[in-house]
Amino acid sequence: MTVTEGPLEWLALARGTLDRVALKRRDDAWLADAWADPATRVLVVQDGRTLVTLEPEPALVFVAPGQAPDGDRWLLGVDDDGTAYFAVPGEPPAVDGAETAGLRRVGALLADRDSGLLTHAVALEHWHRTNRFCPRCGTETRVTSAGHVRVCPQDGSQHFPRVDPAVIMLVTDADDRILLARGPQWPADRRSILAGFVEPGESLEQAVAREVLEEVGLAVRDVRYLGSQPWPLPQSLMLGFTATADGTLPLRPDPEEILDAGWYTRDELRAAIEAKEIVAPGPLSIAAQLIMRWYGGELPGMPAF
Ligand SMILES: [Zn+2]
Repeated sequence: MTVTEGPLEWLALARGTLDRVALKRRDDAWLADAWADPATRVLVVQDGRTLVTLEPEPALVFVAPGQAPDGDRWLLGVDDDGTAYFAVPGEPPAVDGAETAGLRRVGALLADRDSGLLTHAVALEHWHRTNRFCPRCGTETRVTSAGHVRVCPQDGSQHFPRVDPAVIMLVTDADDRILLARGPQWPADRRSILAGFVEPGESLEQAVAREVLEEVGLAVRDVRYLGSQPWPLPQSLMLGFTATADGTLPLRPDPEEILDAGWYTRDELRAAIEAKEIVAPGPLSIAAQLIMRWYGGELPGMPAF
């Protein structure tokens, strides 16, 4: 059995369908008209959570502009029928049959449009909540461009939503085994593929090679990009790769980052999951999709969603 060919096909948080209409973000007349239209839908977001219903199908619960909290409005986009969608920070209003939830709970469950809206909205909400002040002079910045830029009134500097790139890599050896590791803070039955943040002045491929060398002491070859998904938990972009390494060499886990690491065949991984030594990953992460692509389908015991 060989590694499945092709890019990653389904990534839970990379399914947005809206036109982001970035050119409308500075069009004050268009924005005012959209906000005055009762058909406009507003997502109220607080601490990464918004209103959802779980039955009959998981879906976001929107309010009309008149029901939304006052304050900043962030334009998320426009759908095919011209409906505009905004996000607004604040406490979600009480709505019969609705509850609050975040991406970890519903990101993989929501339909494509809603998954994309929530991913965009929680990314903006975290950025605004944690980046209120100018990094140059400390003055409180103000929101412009319908929520996608903050400007310092003191020095005029512009500040854009921060996204931290992180690489995640499925490393195989000549026997097509995969390398799985456990972080020091993780539960005893959790294993995943290696990952790490891209450093300043570093390419993605260099980051893959550096992280694998740092974490387990192996040199990698054949670094290949397979796909990406936003991961605003709180502010990353996950970039998925495959790479190969020599599985006959000893693994030298960095004790600060890796508690233990090992190579697994498909049969060994299936047996470890069935013996409950390893818990199957949920479908939200790009790690799960990379492992499934190698495994050739769903893992036993994998939560459907
Ligand atoms: Zn400033």
